[in-house]
Amino acid sequence: MSADKYLCGARRPKWQETSPLVASRLPCVLEEGHGEAHQDAMGQTWMVTTPELVFALGVLFASEELRRLLGGEGAL
Ligand SMILES: [Zn+2]
Repeated sequence: MSADKYLCGARRPKWQETSPLVASRLPCVLEEGHGEAHQDAMGQTWMVTTPELVFALGVLFASEELRRLLGGEGAL
């Protein structure tokens, strides 16, 4: 590895952890600034997330849960 290249080092967010948990905690070994999914030393990948994406998914899941609680499709 060249000295002028840095690794991404990102770790998987809690909500993207999978079993076994030890493997889920390994950092990304791709070069800093990569555009694809993160990848650890074992070759496992996970998606690159932004705060905007996490917020949008939270709104989506909350709205689906509300729809379910209020009686399903057409209840709103
Ligand atoms: Zn990465």
